[in-house]
Amino acid sequence: MLEPNPPLTDLARDASLLLEETFGAGPALTAAAPGRVNLIGEHIDYCDGFVLPLAIERHVVIAARPTDSSIARVVSTGLDPVEIDLSVPQKAGIPQWSNYLRGVIQGFLDLHCRLPGFEAAIVSSIPLGAGLSSSAALECAFATLLEGLVDTVLPTVDKARLAQAAEHQFAGVPCGLMDQFASSFGQKDQLILIDCRSGEPELIPFTDPSLSVLVAHTRVSHDLSDGGYAARRKDTENGLALLGKSSWRKVTMKDAYAARETMGDRLFRRARHVITETARTIEAVEAFRANDFSKLGSLMDQSHRSLRDDFEVSCEELDLMVALAKEIGFEGGVLGARMTGGGFGGSTVTLCRTNDAAAIASRMHQRYLDETGIVPLVFATRPAAGASLLNLSS
Ligand code: ADP
Ligand code: MG
Repeated sequence: MLEPNPPLTDLARDASLLLEETFGAGPALTAAAPGRVNLIGEHIDYCDGFVLPLAIERHVVIAARPTDSSIARVVSTGLDPVEIDLSVPQKAGIPQWSNYLRGVIQGFLDLHCRLPGFEAAIVSSIPLGAGLSSSAALECAFATLLEGLVDTVLPTVDKARLAQAAEHQFAGVPCGLMDQFASSFGQKDQLILIDCRSGEPELIPFTDPSLSVLVAHTRVSHDLSDGGYAARRKDTENGLALLGKSSWRKVTMKDAYAARETMGDRLFRRARHVITETARTIEAVEAFRANDFSKLGSLMDQSHRSLRDDFEVSCEELDLMVALAKEIGFEGGVLGARMTGGGFGGSTVTLCRTNDAAAIASRMHQRYLDETGIVPLVFATRPAAGASLLNLSS
């Protein structure tokens, strides 16, 4: 079953209603930011690699209005409400989700912005913890809202980095820059190639309507503490130190083979993933530019195997979801499939022919349910626009 993506206007209406129900008055401004799915280039954004995400047609939307106080009061569907004093330096606090907001607020305080008090209500169509960057969407939507409240517009790259710093310093997740860049720089019909060494994003057109991106959320998460992510980061840091290099961009497979004994099996395999995944991402962009979609699909398949066997961030359910897509095969319209995001659960991404997308989604949905007893979430998306204030009058 292909789940529809709720239109932004519906989300904005729901956020407005929530604001009014909670605080008794409607919004003066509304901000939105998309989640993202990464087509290829996984777990290498913190290794000076390349990543190729797109912003998706799933969003965090925040409706808000300023008040005459120095307090932010924020609610989000189904979560504990948050109250933050804006007149003091921010510290991490509770509930846990408030830390994404506190981090972004601190980013604005560091820029010497005087924030007015406000009330805000958040709704979202991005499943939490699904590897689709609901956290970055929250940070980027909130940063965009604060821009609106203080009537300033930060350079996009500064806003993305401010959001990333919030996640590092307040949520305690040492993420790379892909998520916030995708959520901020996204554009309709464009993929975002990010050179994670220079921090430069480049738009790669994805205009062919005969192709679609299917996202399948397994609805499992095995890595509740985020320990696996931090451990992989550590492995890559230790591996690079043993290789005696200053950047993964300078490491070849020849270097890795030469250092194989010193590195040991695990760090060698981590290195092999980083080196080959970086090369695959560059090849994928070339394949895109040449409209060689079967090549692109095969690179996605290789990427999955590398994440499963060398980087060890997949899990049974992700492997199953990828196998179910592959089972449908090229004849059924599937070009390639892989896990996406941090792993240990979360989602897969499948590149498929648009005409077959509904049939592929139904089959993946049903087969996954039969095998696991879990109802997955499967939706299709085209590349969406990045974070912005919504002009709701038009
Ligand atoms: P992902 O970014 O892949 O969805 P993360 O674990 O990085 O997963 O981020 C999920 C966390 O982000 C949630 O546990 C919650 O704290 C916060 N979050 C995401 N979306 C929302 C939302 N709409 N409202 C409040 N908090 C949210
Ligand atoms: Mg996240």
